[in-house]
Formats: sequence, structure tokens, C-alpha cells
Amino acid sequence: MNIPSLLERLGLAGTLSAAHAADWLPTTGAPLTSFNPASGEALATFATATRADYEQVVAAAQESFRAWRAVPAPARGELVRRIGLALREKKADLGLLVTLEAGKIISEGQGEVQEMIDMCDFAVGQSRQLYGLTIASERPRHRLFEQWHPLGPVGVITAFNFPVAVWAWNALLAAVCGDPTIWKPSEHTPLCALAVSKLAADVCREMQLPPVFQLCLTADQSGGEWLAADERVPLVSATGSCRMGRSVGQQVAARLGRSLLELGGNNGVIVTESADLELAAQAVVFAAVGTAGQRCTTLRRLIVQDSIAETFVGRLVQAYHSLQVGNPWEEGVLVGPLISEIAVEQMLAAVQQAKQEGARLVTGGKRIARAGNFVEPTIMRAHSGMSMLRQETFAPLLYVLTYNTLDEAIALHNDVPQGLSSAIFTDSVRESERFLSPVGSDCGLANVNIGTSGAEIGGAFGGEMETGGGRESGSDAWKAYMRRQTCTINDGDALPLAQGVKFELE
Ligand code: NAD
Repeated sequence: MNIPSLLERLGLAGTLSAAHAADWLPTTGAPLTSFNPASGEALATFATATRADYEQVVAAAQESFRAWRAVPAPARGELVRRIGLALREKKADLGLLVTLEAGKIISEGQGEVQEMIDMCDFAVGQSRQLYGLTIASERPRHRLFEQWHPLGPVGVITAFNFPVAVWAWNALLAAVCGDPTIWKPSEHTPLCALAVSKLAADVCREMQLPPVFQLCLTADQSGGEWLAADERVPLVSATGSCRMGRSVGQQVAARLGRSLLELGGNNGVIVTESADLELAAQAVVFAAVGTAGQRCTTLRRLIVQDSIAETFVGRLVQAYHSLQVGNPWEEGVLVGPLISEIAVEQMLAAVQQAKQEGARLVTGGKRIARAGNFVEPTIMRAHSGMSMLRQETFAPLLYVLTYNTLDEAIALHNDVPQGLSSAIFTDSVRESERFLSPVGSDCGLANVNIGTSGAEIGGAFGGEMETGGGRESGSDAWKAYMRRQTCTINDGDALPLAQGVKFELE
């Protein structure tokens, strides 16, 4: 891959010197280097935001808000529609950049940009549907209704594993809702953030609109901490680990702000005796090793009916042995690298710890001896008493548990503090209905005969408990980015009070 030419095509070449400060990106702070996780090579080094730069960014977002909130919502949608067109033009290159910097295989890198395009289309439609309810008033000649108003600058903190799509979930909906965004991207994927921010800023400038999309790129987590503590930012949407969410959630709550938290998952799949095992095997392998096990929705706990466990695990092992692990841009490769050396060490430590807790290695478990952060996709037979089952190890490490009755399987499934994604494979209506019932899966996403990962943008995405409770992307997730106002109008000449209260002056 010709990296300088890719960066040139994405308009980044000129922005990468430490001395450069584009108008949309105040950067005078410490240098940050972006690395290719498949080779360990440095891709580019550039300056990041200082606290003083951050102040400029917030001031610009506040000023944009004053103008942007007065633009009619469908006209705000036009900006997003134009961003969708620009993304379509740059899809191939932007997808390659995701592959290069985040280590996703080509089709997943392209898929992530497609997700942004889908979000554009969704948000454009939403811009004409920011509906409020009309409510029957109990008083004569009164009208009661609610309306939705823009909220203010929104802080968007994102993780490395969806370096562009999660920005789109937040920033594009926020834009049609009338809110500018301040994006604090992962320090592992700054080039992706620069490319997307530049594209969005260029469209704003061409349309002579205020700068709606701001970037605050810091060399560490400090930009996220500034947003969490900042009273000028009424909503902070944060995607990342439970550790990060706990900190951001507490900081934002301490100033009575709003947070939208999309945190770690620890997802399970139940495979029953009646399941189509070939379908289940395909879904399990994609969910467990896709994106090298670095999705919040990655399958980490497989719960198989005892009578089919040997056969099913045997089929998985066969599939794992045929997986190509390697450079994510090469054809045929299905598993790329982990994001960093630390991530490799964390996975190897988790395998050791699981062994100490009584798990048995079925396949994998080692680092692959080559440049870059490569590990073997791993399966371990586990037991319900293991503390490791309750943790998210962000790597392709799958624990297998067995069960006898469906109630036992659901109890095992729900016995973790996270609650993001879940699935059951079954041909029995009774089993699938029980899994989806109030006594079934406790997660925000529950699937039947589909794996845990690969959600569509049309649904509300998010999870319960330690996953944070936030919902983003589709359905009515837009409401998080607006403030609701309940209005009552009296067109009569009397002043009746609600609940029959009398207060009459002499
Ligand atoms: P991370 O928590 O290390 O970092 C995420 C972002 O938060 C980064 O931008 C980082 O700089 C910032 N940050 C870290 N600590 C912070 C703090 N104390 N205050 C403010 N900001 C802080 O996560 P990661 O390693 O980049 O991503 C992997 C994690 O993200 C996994 O746990 C994964 O499940 C989760 N994730 C969740 C979703 C979801 O939608 N639920 C989506 C993607 C990733």
C-alpha cells in the first residue's frame, strides 16, 4: 500500500507537520504518532491540542451553536446529505485508512465507511421527523404539546475499534438536531479522525455554514477529561471501556450534565440442541474472531447444550484452523492484528489467568511470531466459577461453557455485569420466545439465529448495566441530542387550574 499517496488523496499530507495549524484544527501541543498495528511502523506524527487549543475549540462550538440552532432542521439535513455525497466519493480511500490504522480487514474497513454513509441517509430523513406529541389537555380551550429544541455543543469521545462510524452515529444526528460536536477520538486512530474531520469541515466551508464539527485531538485521554468536566458541554457521548465510562459518567453527573455511555460488552451466544449447527458455526466464528475480537459486540462466551458440545466445538476448531491471520489488506485474510503491543500482552495474560482458574486450552493461545500485534484466535473450555468469565478481554478469546436446561443456559448467559449483545441459535419457537421474554436475555441487543455482532444502523444500539445504558444510531436515539419542552397554550378568557385546584382572587 502506498501510504503517502493515500494520505495525499485524503487531503492529509499538508496537515501532518507538527507546525501546521489548519483553521479547523488548533494544534500546538505535544506530538502524537500513529502506528500501523500490522507492522509496528510509524505512519505519521503530528501536533495535538493543548488546553488552550481546547478552549478555542469550545468557544468555536459555542459560537456555531448560536447560529446553527436557528437553521431549520431540514436545512441542517442538507449539510448531512452533502457529507454523505463526499463520503461516497472518498469511501475506498477512507476505508483503506481504517484498515491501515485500526487493522480491520478490507471489507470491514469499507463497511465502516458504508455505515457512515447509511447514517447520513438516516439522519437526513430524521431531520424532517423531529416530532413532538400533541397531548389532550384536561382544561377547556387549552392546547398541550411538546417540542424538541437543540441542546448545545456535544462532546463525542470515541474508541479505537470503530474509529469513524461512532463519530457518525453521534455527530450526524447531533447536527440535524442543531448541535455542534467536539470530537475526542482515540489516540490509536488519529489519522482516521483527521481525515473525517477535514472532509466534514470542507463541506461546511463550501456551504458557507458555521463550523459544526470540531476536533479535539489529544495525545492521551486528557481531551476526554476536559469534555467530561466542562459545564459548557451539556451532553457527553462516550464510547469505550467500562473503566472510562465510570470516570466520565461520574464527572458529568457531578456537574448535573447528561452522558450517553456506550461501554464494554461481554457477549454470549446460546446454541441449543435444535439449532442449525452449520449456521451457528459460521455466525460464532465471525462474532468471535471478526475484527480480531475487538468489537464491543464480539462473542466471548459460547454456551452450548451438553449433548452437542463435542461436535460443535470440533466444527469450530476445524474452522479456526482454516482462518488466515495476517496483513488486513491482503485478500483472503479474515483476522488482522490487535491494536497494540499492550493488547497482545493483555490477551496472553488472560489466557494464563483462565488456565489458572481451571480453563482448558482447545486451540490458539499464543502470539504469532512476526512483526505487528498478531495473536492466534483462541478457544478455551471454561467453567461457570471462573472470574475471567466476567471480564471483557478485547481480543479473539472465546470461552466455551455447557448446559443442560434452557433456564440454566439463560442464567449462565446473564451472569456477567455487562449487558450489550446476545443471541440464541434454535429452531424451537418456545426457546427463542423464552430468550426474548422478560426472563430471557438481559442485554440491549438480543438476536435469534444471528451472531452478536454486525448491527444495522436503523435500530437503537447500546446495552444495559456496566455497558452504560446509552442508545445511539437509529430508532429514537436522536432524542438524546435535544431538549424536550412541554408547552401549554390557553386561548380562552378563564384560568382553570389543573387537578381542579381553586385559586380565585376577590
Ligand atoms: P478506552 O476506554 O481505552 O478509550 C476510549 C476513549 O476514551 C479514548 O478516546 C480515550 O482517550 C478516552 N478515555 C480513556 N479514559 C478516559 C477518561 N478517564 N476520561 C475521559 N476519556 C477517557 O477504550 P478503547 O480501548 O479505545 O476501546 C475499547 C473499548 O470500547 C472496549 O471496552 C469496547 O467494548 C468499548 N466499545 C464499546 C462500544 C459500544 O457501543 N458499547 C463501541 C466500541 C467500543
